[in-house]
This record gives sequence, structure tokens and C-alpha cells, in this order.
Amino acid sequence: MRRALKMVVDPVSCAGEGLCAELFPERITLDPWGYPIVSDEPLTPQLMEHARRAVDMCPHLAIHVMDAPVRVPTPTRRGGDGPGPEPTRAEARIVAQLRGGGPRR
Ligand code: SF4
Repeated sequence: MRRALKMVVDPVSCAGEGLCAELFPERITLDPWGYPIVSDEPLTPQLMEHARRAVDMCPHLAIHVMDAPVRVPTPTRRGGDGPGPEPTRAEARIVAQLRGGGPRR
């Protein structure tokens, strides 16, 4: 199964103030009570700056970027789901930074 960077919210820590949706509307919307609904789509390198800003600005440290498995349906000769494509170099570099605590921009 392919892995990719995804956003996750800790519902226990989140206070539902909605700042993250203002900072990262590409992937976060709010429910009627102001709590974030995070898209399950993988983060692309182009979105990482906005994602990191939302993570850094959350006053309750409730939102995170994680390297997580994603199910990417890809056709195979037998018609089932394959493992999906390899991560791009940019995605691999971001994952390495997250795992090793490398420099953050
Ligand atoms: S900014 Fe943090 S506390 Fe506020 S809604 Fe988003 S995840 Fe929750």
C-alpha cells in the first residue's frame, strides 16, 4: 500500500476554533459547530507550506501531518488494486524531514 502525507486532527485536543480552516482551506472545512473536517486526500508538495502553517498556528497543537497509508486504486492486469506509484522525490524528501526532524521552512 502506498504511503503519503496526510493531515489528521486530534479531536480530544481540538477546541473547534476554526483557525486551521482559514489557514488551509484547500484541505480543511468546518462542520456546523466549527470543528475541522480534514480531507483524506494526500498532501502534495505544493500544499505543504500551507499545511505546516496550519499545524504551527493551531493553539491547541491538535493538528498534525502524518506519513500514513493511503489506498490508491490503480488498475492491474487482473483488474484489482495495485500498490500504486512510488512517492515523488519531493514527497520522499518531506517524509525524511518529518521522520528525522530536519529543517522546517
Ligand atoms: S486550529 Fe486547532 S484547535 Fe482550532 S479548529 Fe483547527 S485543529 Fe482545532
